[in-house]
Amino acid sequence: MSLKLFNTLSKSKEIFHPIDTNEVKVYACGPTLYNNPHIGNFRPIIVFDVLFRILRNIYGEENVVYVRNITDIDDKIITRANDLGFSTSDLVSKTQIVYQKNLESLNILEPSHEPKATEYISKMIEMINSLISKGYAYESSNHVLFEAKKFKDYGALSKFSFKDIISGARVEVAEYKKNPEDFILWKPSKINEPSWSSPWGDGRPGWHIECSAMIADLLGPSIDIHAGGLDLIFPHHENEIAQSTCYHGCKMSNYWLHNGFINFHGEKMSKSLGNITIVDDLLSIHDPNTIKYALLTTHYRQPIDFSDDLLTYAKNIIEKWEGFISDTNNNKLDNEFIMALYDDLNTPKALMRLQQLFNELKKSPEDDEISSCFNNGLKILGLNPVFEVKEISLDKEHIENMISRRLDAKKNKNYKLADQIRNELLNEGILLEDNKDGTSWKKI
Ligand SMILES: [Zn+2]
Repeated sequence: MSLKLFNTLSKSKEIFHPIDTNEVKVYACGPTLYNNPHIGNFRPIIVFDVLFRILRNIYGEENVVYVRNITDIDDKIITRANDLGFSTSDLVSKTQIVYQKNLESLNILEPSHEPKATEYISKMIEMINSLISKGYAYESSNHVLFEAKKFKDYGALSKFSFKDIISGARVEVAEYKKNPEDFILWKPSKINEPSWSSPWGDGRPGWHIECSAMIADLLGPSIDIHAGGLDLIFPHHENEIAQSTCYHGCKMSNYWLHNGFINFHGEKMSKSLGNITIVDDLLSIHDPNTIKYALLTTHYRQPIDFSDDLLTYAKNIIEKWEGFISDTNNNKLDNEFIMALYDDLNTPKALMRLQQLFNELKKSPEDDEISSCFNNGLKILGLNPVFEVKEISLDKEHIENMISRRLDAKKNKNYKLADQIRNELLNEGILLEDNKDGTSWKKI
């Protein structure tokens, strides 16, 4: 049984062969933190988290390196920071707190690295310098541009020709460009914009070079999988390929995976339609597993219609399943379930199989094998509050210990310490309740 993935580069499903099974390298373009993340930002995060879990399951946890970046410098960040009167770094830090909280609520595994673009400016400058000296890039009016025509495979990912690009107005025409399809590697900063010194004057990098620099630094010249949203194929990923390939002189990524859009009532989700659903708001109404289940009911490459009906449907299933979620030491996985996921992450089929396993489990709740298949399946999809159950049982001793320390503090009238202990536990998600029989606790 081998993992098959749809590769945008070949437009076909291919058997996945990593370059090195001891170090499988995956990169996914992460969000631009200019505002609290919306559900559209989380679709790639959730589906590529499932991919990360599958790869760890196949090659071993230690043998998969997953990088998901944070874009912390961008026009949208600058505009919003100026509107709010914040510095760009303050805006990103504030947004990142919410983003991090959302990731934890949704039980997303921590990637191996989570780099921020601004930490890699020197690498970007080094790459741009090298591209100029190799004749792929040129300087013009304090800008540095990549001359797309110089890269013979330009358009291989998007299948766009230069004619398509220009006639489709997919690129900006500007005086400082030799050709309309050339793209920015470096540009001057305006007043009130963050800037870094460079051989081409103070300025900031173009968006595309950010990912190329982070990949080069953290993963090296060639990676196994590069992933992101469908909207990134052109120009972002096409440009990443051009600059990375010309810089390193080898293929950038063997597999390119792209997830589809989220639609609201048939309309593609975009900011201008005003129908953004902020994840933080969704999480205040819905159980995290409901949101994840809803997103996984559609294959990741297909568009998904996100609606209240879908969330209600997901909620009903998750509520039924909840009573049967348990911890298991048995590693047994269901063959049919795994086969579905190995077939280009067919999560709708995998969820249907979990439903069948659930039906069997309901008839035979004591059957360890079915229970293991069901629960391990949930784990692979990251739909497992089991971790929370585990966490509590592991932390029980620590909680009891803290409660007795707090009781001692209260006896000694050290109320400050008692409150401190109570707050420490609260930060860990444990709420203490004092009653006539003593102190009880619950997970919040
Ligand atoms: Zn990117």
